[in-house]
Amino acid sequence: MNIYAYQSHGYEGLAIRIQVTTSARGLTLLGLSQTQQREFRQKAASISTALGVPEPTGIVQVPPKSNLESLELAIILALRLSRDRLLPSGCPDIMIAGKLNLDGTIAPMPTLLAIPELAYTHHCRLLIAPTAARPYTYRALVIRHCADLEQALRQCRRFLLNHGGEQDVPASAQTPPSPPSHPFAEILGLEKAKRALQIVAAGGLNILLYGPPGGGKTLLLHTLASLMPPLTEEEKEEIARIRGTLPTSRPVIEVLPTMAEKQLFGSEPSLLNLAHGGILLVDELNRQKESTLKAITFFLEKRNCGSYPGRFILASAMNGCPCGNMGREEALCTCSEKQRQRHWSRIGSALLDRFDICLPILPENLMTLPLVQEEQDICANIRKVWLKQRQTDQQKYLKLLPLLDTCKQGKSLSMRCSISVCKIATIIAHFSNREVVDKEDMSEALSYKTYGIDRHWR
Ligand SMILES: [Zn+2]
Repeated sequence: MNIYAYQSHGYEGLAIRIQVTTSARGLTLLGLSQTQQREFRQKAASISTALGVPEPTGIVQVPPKSNLESLELAIILALRLSRDRLLPSGCPDIMIAGKLNLDGTIAPMPTLLAIPELAYTHHCRLLIAPTAARPYTYRALVIRHCADLEQALRQCRRFLLNHGGEQDVPASAQTPPSPPSHPFAEILGLEKAKRALQIVAAGGLNILLYGPPGGGKTLLLHTLASLMPPLTEEEKEEIARIRGTLPTSRPVIEVLPTMAEKQLFGSEPSLLNLAHGGILLVDELNRQKESTLKAITFFLEKRNCGSYPGRFILASAMNGCPCGNMGREEALCTCSEKQRQRHWSRIGSALLDRFDICLPILPENLMTLPLVQEEQDICANIRKVWLKQRQTDQQKYLKLLPLLDTCKQGKSLSMRCSISVCKIATIIAHFSNREVVDKEDMSEALSYKTYGIDRHWR
């Protein structure tokens, strides 16, 4: 039989085989560096003292260059089981996950389905795992959540003797979320932008807001997180596999123009991977470094980087022109047409093409604004449309292309842009509880596709 230790590695994780041979004469560790051997001996000694048990003896072999921290628990368990002559050759394999503390307790960790999946594919029948937020079960795998070394040892012994085990202790309930306030409580007017944000949240779309400073672009983008539906179990799992902790809400990662390349992509998972399942907020898009813009474009294209996924909503804002006055009624834009062109071409057409919604935000006169009653169940509606959207076949958008072609502005769009318009039109129809998309939905969808380079941008 084999004993494996779970080691987190990239998105999938590794199964590290621990080989032990009984020996009463001291402890031999093969495959570990001198420093690792010393660290392990010290830790094993202090745990043995804390628990009042003799120090482990035997010969252990692990693959070289393994991460010792994730192997310690498995090594100690394997040595103790071997000493008790409890490792018969015909017995099913075991996987052990978790990090051991100096007092013999096992550090709790988020619920990661990656671990049982890996154990299962390695033909293990028992998984020893730390206590988790939600104890998982997995196919025919017996999973025992253990809080300390002794408990883990008891579970292994029991399994090895009769393939049975104790019942899991139910995990403590998660803290309930606090009641949310209305997402648009702080924003007056800007109804078109509010509508656009709801479409973005329901469809997982990318949005770019542009216009003069002080128009409310940043404030609008910051409401997006509260509009998005709560994470599904599947999404929580994916995020936990990237971050190592169980998320309580959708991640919002902000990219600043001052960030160095190393801060953004110097590690794996990178900052952009950390936005997976949530929002990548890039304010002042035109002020971002060229490498940042390139990397974001690459991410949107590939939807992953290294072994980690990176699917997020890109929420961006920028001025419409270099001087910032374009679109202002009380001030004149002093930029030439050429300067404006350069301002926009810096972003790159590949990235601009990725924004499903591109909308100008102009300062509104608050005195003349009509009072609009905010819809109360806005988040529930978004969630309803979001669920519907997830079940919509991509083919449906293609079938809408002839309808798009009947609109004047719909003729000159790229294929990606056309499909994006059809998707937005479908979302708009879903918001009105309709399955059939009509021409009015299509025109509204097209109205979210404007760019500052167009002289008729208003
Ligand atoms: Zn200007």
